[in-house]
Amino acid sequence: MRVVDVDVVVFGGGPAGSVVAEQLRARGRRVVLLGREATRLSVGDHLPFEGAAPLARLGAWSDFLGTSPLRSAGICSYWGDDAASEKPGLLQPGGAGWHLDRPAFDAMLLRRAATAGAEILIDARVTSIDGDPFDWTIDIAASELRLRAAWLVDATGRACWLARRLGTEPRVIDELYGFVRFWNDAEIRPYALIEACPDGWWYSAALPHGRAVTIFMSDVQQGRGRPWQRDWQGTRTARRFRAARPIVPDFSRRATSQWVHPHPDAGWTPVGDAALARDPLSSAGLTASLASAPACAAAIDGVLTGCDRVLRQYAATILWHQREYVATRTRVYAAEGRFSDTPFWRRRRTLHA
Ligand SMILES: Cc1cc2nc3c(=O)[nH]c(=O)nc-3n(C[C@H](O)[C@H](O)[C@H](O)COP(=O)(O)OP(=O)(O)OC[C@H]3O[C@@H](n4cnc5c(N)ncnc54)[C@H](O)[C@@H]3O)c2cc1C
Repeated sequence: MRVVDVDVVVFGGGPAGSVVAEQLRARGRRVVLLGREATRLSVGDHLPFEGAAPLARLGAWSDFLGTSPLRSAGICSYWGDDAASEKPGLLQPGGAGWHLDRPAFDAMLLRRAATAGAEILIDARVTSIDGDPFDWTIDIAASELRLRAAWLVDATGRACWLARRLGTEPRVIDELYGFVRFWNDAEIRPYALIEACPDGWWYSAALPHGRAVTIFMSDVQQGRGRPWQRDWQGTRTARRFRAARPIVPDFSRRATSQWVHPHPDAGWTPVGDAALARDPLSSAGLTASLASAPACAAAIDGVLTGCDRVLRQYAATILWHQREYVATRTRVYAAEGRFSDTPFWRRRRTLHA
């Protein structure tokens, strides 16, 4: 068996994992990233303007433009009111952000990590993880490889794969699911439409390369039995897509609100959605991952040089964001009062952290 000593093993090659790996390399750390082949269709396309600053700080701006993002014209929502609330890009400082080619965006960030010198292993089957902080051993079956690492990072998104493997379950406060359909765009204007309805809410947007997406966010229970067929007719979303046609079979994605608190003495650190996964309504997941990953890398670099002050700050910041998020989420769902007697909206009012 080949034994390789590294400083950090990052699990997960989404935006958070790729940026952590790149930033640890920039600090001279030896890094292996264990990723997965992107066999599932990616969702999560809206990068608000706030996402530009972390990309620019990473020096990734021109790489980002190379992924052909579509400039968003704004957000139109029907939430708590039958009248539209419009947030046109022209009236927002910096504009309304972008709609992404998500696979291209994720691949760009992973490529940057590889270029920085992180070793990327895709679909390596981990057979065991043993050890303690500063002394981890990870065995990988097929390649007869043993990694020895000082620190581990959980960047596996909502799966929280490493956390669970090490015995920590995420705290879940909302079992939301997204039912996704990709379309040919049929000349849909590039703005996001959000529309509340009795059993959940709709999100739709145009995407780069002549495509578009609709997502029906609902409870898992209501998801069974294809909710969009019931809640589709008569919506503005349906009118928007009347000339479009689906291009792949529909599928669903977990969109739970959940978190794992980083424990500074645990020897591993969650980042991105693995640390705090937000409701897609916030459109904040990508920005938060891009912004918190460099902080996570700095925190781990600090602890490897014998100082855990930055890691403790990182943990405190995640906790602060989690509390802010829960308060905001409660307020936003309470603002929709038109369907308060349906199970979906009743459940949203009674969910507490
Ligand atoms: C329906 C829906 C709509 C969304 N819309 C938006 C939006 O419009 N704007 C926005 O900003 N955010 C949106 N989000 C959230 C956004 O997608 C996430 O916040 C973002 O992807 C988090 O990045 P991440 O790197 O932490 O996790 P992920 O992007 O989930 O990446 C995790 C990676 O880890 C890999 N992985 C999992 N298990 C393992 C394992 N055992 N070993 C190795 N690798 C593993 C996965 O394959 C994946 O590549 C949406 C989410 C959903 C579900």
